[in-house]
Amino acid sequence: MAKAKKSKLKVDPAEAKERVLKILPILKKTYPDAKIALNWDDPWNLFVAVVLSAQCTDVRVNIVTKDLFEKYKCPQDYLNVPQEELERDIRSTGFYRNKAKNIRGAARKIIDDFGGKVPRTMDELLTLPGAGRKTANCILGNAFGIPGITCDTHVIRLSGRLGLSENSDPVKLEFDLMEIVPKTKFGGWTMFSHYLIWHGRNICIARKPDCPHCPIAPYCPSAETLTCGEHPAPIGI
Ligand code: SF4
Repeated sequence: MAKAKKSKLKVDPAEAKERVLKILPILKKTYPDAKIALNWDDPWNLFVAVVLSAQCTDVRVNIVTKDLFEKYKCPQDYLNVPQEELERDIRSTGFYRNKAKNIRGAARKIIDDFGGKVPRTMDELLTLPGAGRKTANCILGNAFGIPGITCDTHVIRLSGRLGLSENSDPVKLEFDLMEIVPKTKFGGWTMFSHYLIWHGRNICIARKPDCPHCPIAPYCPSAETLTCGEHPAPIGI
């Protein structure tokens, strides 16, 4: 795996903290409906959808899970079919062999170790095959209302542009952000991730950020300085 590059911007944590308090209320007002784009109706289904979303669009995952969640209602259902059948059912999301293996491995563990229920702590979630901190924070925040910062590609890119962290390694970034983002105020850690993801999809897009129409431009150290090919975060992130 390529080594994560650092942002070109020098970050002062105290200034970054102040900046977050300025931009959070604006993002909250701009994206009042911000939420996870994956469809799910219980914590286990959310786990499956998040596993399927690796290297796949949320739109494609939602198409696949529409039928998948009709056929497989609980962790045991994923173990009641041969792995090849599950692979066929999720094939169009890509990397389907690995994803099927992880989903079935997680189903086994949840049944054997957690009474059939998705666990509610970071440490326990990290024991599930296919779950890293990004997945665990996504489950904690969205399924259980426990604050968690999900460092996806948009959060990594925007954190660099907004001068919130010099780290683009997701785990280092998550710990940096936990120091400067309020845990519960303005929607807290979970909504902070959603706001940045929505802003990254709508305005601060990877290759051509729309700075002239950006509501947080007055507080952004990268405003108007970005051109194609010059990004504080690695291109494509
Ligand atoms: S001002 Fe430009 S670089 Fe900064 S957050 Fe807005 S769109 Fe992104």
